[in-house]
Amino acid sequence: TEAHLRAVEATRGLNIFITETADIALRQAKAADERYAAGTALPMDGLPIAVKDLFCTEGVLTTAASHILDGFKPPYESSVTANLWRDGAVMLGKVNLDEFAMGSANITSYYGPVISPWSKGRRVQRDAAPAGSGVLAEVAEAFRQPQPVTEWEWERKLVPGGSSGGSAAAVAARVAMAATGTDTGGSIRQPASFVGIVGLKPTYGRCSRWGIVAFASSLDQAGPMTRTVRDAAIMLRSMAGFDPKDSTSADVPVPDYEKAITGDIRGLRVGIPREYRVDGMPAEIDRLWQQGVEWLKAAGAVPVEISLPHTKYALPAYYIVAPAEASSNLARYDGVRFGLRVEGKDLKEMYENTRGEGFGREVRRRILIGTYVLSAGYYDAYYLKAQKVRARIAEDFTKAWEQCDVILTPTAPNTAFGIGEKMDDPIAMYLNDVFTVPANLAGLPGMSVPAGLAGNGLPLGLQLVGRPFDEATLIRAAAVLE
Ligand code: GLN
Repeated sequence: TEAHLRAVEATRGLNIFITETADIALRQAKAADERYAAGTALPMDGLPIAVKDLFCTEGVLTTAASHILDGFKPPYESSVTANLWRDGAVMLGKVNLDEFAMGSANITSYYGPVISPWSKGRRVQRDAAPAGSGVLAEVAEAFRQPQPVTEWEWERKLVPGGSSGGSAAAVAARVAMAATGTDTGGSIRQPASFVGIVGLKPTYGRCSRWGIVAFASSLDQAGPMTRTVRDAAIMLRSMAGFDPKDSTSADVPVPDYEKAITGDIRGLRVGIPREYRVDGMPAEIDRLWQQGVEWLKAAGAVPVEISLPHTKYALPAYYIVAPAEASSNLARYDGVRFGLRVEGKDLKEMYENTRGEGFGREVRRRILIGTYVLSAGYYDAYYLKAQKVRARIAEDFTKAWEQCDVILTPTAPNTAFGIGEKMDDPIAMYLNDVFTVPANLAGLPGMSVPAGLAGNGLPLGLQLVGRPFDEATLIRAAAVLE
């Protein structure tokens, strides 16, 4: 834990952490040491992790990367983080994200963008050792000795993906052993793909949403972001489980996911959906996808071409359903109950001032879209239509499971892009989620596994989607791909 805390310091220039909790980490680590000494170690004992700042942590600042939650210290702990602490995990701190998890690049955060550890740059200030050895070398040295806070000169700053950008960067930079993420339309899987780590979005209902700041309640799901498939298996087991405090939490047993890693996928039927060959997809993403099929085949799996005919409607449906639910969930930030208050001459003006100043551009855009599609004259044309599309997408998958056991696709249609790119074009940004949103709309588990580097030297991920509550099969197949 001490080494990881030094790594946190050494990488402050990446803007990963919103709140560092060294005191809590050292206290938890000490308790873990005592359990190890007594021979009573817990499943995640002493493992230093980062927590996406969307999980409420008792007495610890929780911001959702929004100005509107200024100073909010929840009097309660989210069920998922409580499960992790119960199993001995150590909290290094709360990490950056897109504001209210709305985004695909971690650039909508009130606290500024996260810089991907894959960015090209060099150190410019240094007490010892020659400058310019890169983020990983910096972290490696921090593990050996305390480091001065580093200044970087960046050639090109890359996004870590989003919305779980801080979580992705923390794991990729070796600052945390693992991190919690949340995924409403791809926010665990897409950043995992961008930085070359493993990200698992479980089945809707597998992990409790209680105490997680809500974005779109029928889509939100928490999951692990880790360096290896085995780590994801171990961490998911701790995070998951029935919770009576979340009415959508599923009362189904949580298997020992680590046992699923057998290396044996003989006979596993892998669906390749033809509709995912989208126009304009770079040739190398297609190549990587074929490569993934070959890898699975070599291990005994049987590829089958399948059809998910409503795929092209998934993205538009998502960008109606998600903002609709967000506009309702975000109604609670009124300047009275949480965080920021900006005074006005009367109550109404106080609401307006607080919400006008407290929410960033992207969040305001979503609230406008959401309230529009829910309003009396447009409800049937947009919201109801989107719900019908959602049902069709779920049906597509149900039919597909007659032919296959797991589905393989690319995680994202591109590698990480530069900070500042795509910022003025919300549609271009939304296109990042084209392969990930269907699993959210259908409530299915999805997992991104690192599958190599693109021609530009940046990581690419492959996505596995599985049957409801069958994360074990995803983990089994993912372990063959990694
Ligand atoms: N990028 C998607 C969005 O902006 C998904 C975000 C998420 O999964 N939280 O809504």
